Amino acid sequence: MKIPFLNLKQVNAPYMDALKNTATAVVESGWYIRGSYCERFEREFAAYCGRAYGVGVGNGLDALTLMLRASIELGRLKPGDEILVPANTYIATILAVRAAGLVPVLVEPCRDTCNLDVDCLQEACSPKTRAILVVHLYGRLADMPAICTFAKSHNILVFEDVAQAHGAFLDEKNFLSNAAAYSFYPTKNLGALGDAGMVVTDDAELARIVRMLGNYGSETKYVNQYVGVNSRLDEIQAAVLLEKMKHLNNWNNRRREIAARYCAEIKNPQVRLTPLPANPKAHVWHVFPVFCERRDELQEFLKARGIETLVHYPIPPHLQEAFVGAVDRGELRHGALPLTEELARTELSIPMGPSLTDDQVAYVIESINAFI
Ligand SMILES: *Cc1c(COP(=O)(O)O)cnc(C)c1O
Repeated sequence: MKIPFLNLKQVNAPYMDALKNTATAVVESGWYIRGSYCERFEREFAAYCGRAYGVGVGNGLDALTLMLRASIELGRLKPGDEILVPANTYIATILAVRAAGLVPVLVEPCRDTCNLDVDCLQEACSPKTRAILVVHLYGRLADMPAICTFAKSHNILVFEDVAQAHGAFLDEKNFLSNAAAYSFYPTKNLGALGDAGMVVTDDAELARIVRMLGNYGSETKYVNQYVGVNSRLDEIQAAVLLEKMKHLNNWNNRRREIAARYCAEIKNPQVRLTPLPANPKAHVWHVFPVFCERRDELQEFLKARGIETLVHYPIPPHLQEAFVGAVDRGELRHGALPLTEELARTELSIPMGPSLTDDQVAYVIESINAFI
């Protein structure tokens, strides 16, 4: 049996006619950037997230960067402020903090959840700490109640990188961040047919500045209030996302079903899993990670059986060439990160996605259990 890590063509195939029809309607409309499809998608996706405002931008990295830059323009953050971020995240989170002129301070994760360890926040704080940028890695919501309580007691802001967790929700509405950034990169749980991103927030001013920053710093044509960039959501992507959004809950439920099976049936003393969350709604399983000391051998073993796997992520950001000397230059701060390094050394992402069949799931389980 051949099992690809993720087959986007197969994911999109059942909706081919709907996607073609909506793309055709955009082509025929004669309006291609920030038009009626973009407005509708902003409104519907923000509502889906329980937020008042959505601003479509070019990609997830820009959503993160512009959300932080808008906070600086509003005087809520200032260049050089320190932002607590998880040390084990995709590098985009940290690049966005740097791009906004802020200083990322890397914090260790919990071993079980792979998300920010709330017990490590205090020692990472300094008088310059002004915000926490939470990442819901692999689709699992971080401990927002504890993080928001910590932030409130320290009088600092909370932002979210939700690029991997579309549709993961808490029951308690009062633990929301100031703003959240989404990516609709094609492989995400809700993916476009190209690049796209969005900032969602209840803060009208923040939404307005993000919109202006993404449009050359301008609200009125040829009048520029900010040093902006070009980062806008185009109509074809918005139309595709509106169409695909109808199926997001079903896809996430299928992911949860597969995850429950993996958790119940993968039984190999060499392979550690992350536990199911107490509230199933709080996880959308963007990635199903397993941890193994002999990770590379396990990956080869599965490959020989036709099962494609990936590593998220083999090199943690603080060890990337891009950040050599960054700590000495004051552009990045962190202490020892042994757990982050252990996760990078042992993590393996096994096939996960809405189009995986029951037979494929059974074969993956059987194969992992056969690894000695
Ligand atoms: C994908 C991703 C991003 C960046 O999104 P792009 O749309 O690729 O720019 C940011 N953060 C995390 C955690 C991601 O997984």
